[in-house]
Amino acid sequence: MVESLFSINSNKLRGTKKTGWLDITESYFGLEKKIPYFVIYGKEDGPNAVITAVIHGDELNGIPLTYKIFNSINPQKFYGNLVMLPVSNIPAFNVQSRYLPDRRDLNRLFPGKPDGSEGSRIANTIWNLCIKDADFGIDLHSASYNRWNFPHIRGNMRLERVRYLAKIFGAEIVIHSQGVLGSLRREATKRNIPFILFEAGQINRFEEEPLEVGLSGIWNILYSLKMVKYQNSKISKTIDTSIYYKKSSWIRATHGGLFVPAVKPGDFIKEGDYLGHIMSLLGEVKDKIKAELSGRILGFNLHPQVVPGRALFHVCHDEKSL
Ligand SMILES: [Zn+2]
Repeated sequence: MVESLFSINSNKLRGTKKTGWLDITESYFGLEKKIPYFVIYGKEDGPNAVITAVIHGDELNGIPLTYKIFNSINPQKFYGNLVMLPVSNIPAFNVQSRYLPDRRDLNRLFPGKPDGSEGSRIANTIWNLCIKDADFGIDLHSASYNRWNFPHIRGNMRLERVRYLAKIFGAEIVIHSQGVLGSLRREATKRNIPFILFEAGQINRFEEEPLEVGLSGIWNILYSLKMVKYQNSKISKTIDTSIYYKKSSWIRATHGGLFVPAVKPGDFIKEGDYLGHIMSLLGEVKDKIKAELSGRILGFNLHPQVVPGRALFHVCHDEKSL
């Protein structure tokens, strides 16, 4: 079994930073495939924190976030330990896909098994490496194919410790979503390791807004949990972090044609508001899309070509106090 990156925190390592590669699986050539990792071993005692990125192989926005965090922390002035995996799902990343080469979703396979499927073994290695000994974690994602998500936090808001992490992160939008069975956040949280998911932007890109919001949120958490003594967050404190949304739902296309949105992620909407339309290939408006309830646009479809049933807008609604 792979040794936890937290458990090798001997006194010798205190106050140091470490980068490295660890064997995670083997290629078709029979050669080792490795994942990169960062560890900050704080000089002082404090929590064990973990940040994972690229659990889905094409959701890249989290990668530069881990670099920025790693490069700006002084381990001599750090309390606790921080492990980061900038590219967790190397086999999927290698083929520029959300999914593993056997078409499974790594984020359905946690905590994994040492003798399971290829994805289950990878999940289990990651689990032993940096999840099981963590006190809390943040998992970095982006919207799936042809969608864009407003930077937001997801987690099981029924649990106080998860709500607390969401609150101190300071995201503009927080939604209750415990995650599907086998997802990292759900399985870790179930085992008393509170996890939140930061979801921002789109696949296959490094985007500025997700980076800025994510960086500020992580700094807010490190500062609030006293892992760092200085505040490095650049986002203004005017954001209302007093509520979360209990539910989210999709508004879907009723006709095929060309989708023309009139609102964007982050916008507040009221029941009956005009959100956009679907145009025929002759340029006529076929269907006006109206809001069926009040809430906030969380994400939307980026591709103009749509068919009936295609998800157009992801809307969060039903506010509750955080
Ligand atoms: Zn994802």
